[in-house]
Amino acid sequence: MSRRDSRLNAKAHECVYGETATSVVSSPIGDIQLVICPRGVHALRMIFDNFELTKCNVAVKSNSGKHDSSNTVSLCVDWLNAYFQGTVNNSDMSLPPICHLSIPDNTATFTQQVWEIIVNEVRYGMTASYAEVAAKLNNSKACRAVGQAMRINPVSIMIPCHRVISSTGATGNYASGRRNDVKAWLIEHEANTM
Ligand SMILES: [Zn+2]
Repeated sequence: MSRRDSRLNAKAHECVYGETATSVVSSPIGDIQLVICPRGVHALRMIFDNFELTKCNVAVKSNSGKHDSSNTVSLCVDWLNAYFQGTVNNSDMSLPPICHLSIPDNTATFTQQVWEIIVNEVRYGMTASYAEVAAKLNNSKACRAVGQAMRINPVSIMIPCHRVISSTGATGNYASGRRNDVKAWLIEHEANTM
């Protein structure tokens, strides 16, 4: 793990709203780490060490932390199972609460607005370019800032940065270019289960 990653990881465990707890769950794209805070999902990170695309259910493998996160963890497990089974789009299941999206509009930073817009407007099975996302925020020159918001997205999959692709149609980078195969897989999985 690079120094930059470990710094991001360290930060992912801290929330200004209170204590966090961490769970690791299995998934078809490898284990996923969930960091849960009092407001909901604080971070969702893929652990790529054991990456292999295998059909498997999302199930809790470990829990740590003093904060009782069991309710949010079970919402996440249900949502992720529906996501990977391809049924989440056709269900009335809503996204588990996400810490970073619970910010009043007038105080949200540009980065938080980007996360909010891709959750609300780049729906399951769709893709959008960085420029299109910037335009949705009435700031068509902000492609770079959109790219940066994608790079530091703390809640992968649920804040669907994998749906934001290059304007040439190229899939573009995922996990700093180390997991572009996962990005392509997620896009294809959604397209096949619309
Ligand atoms: Zn939080």
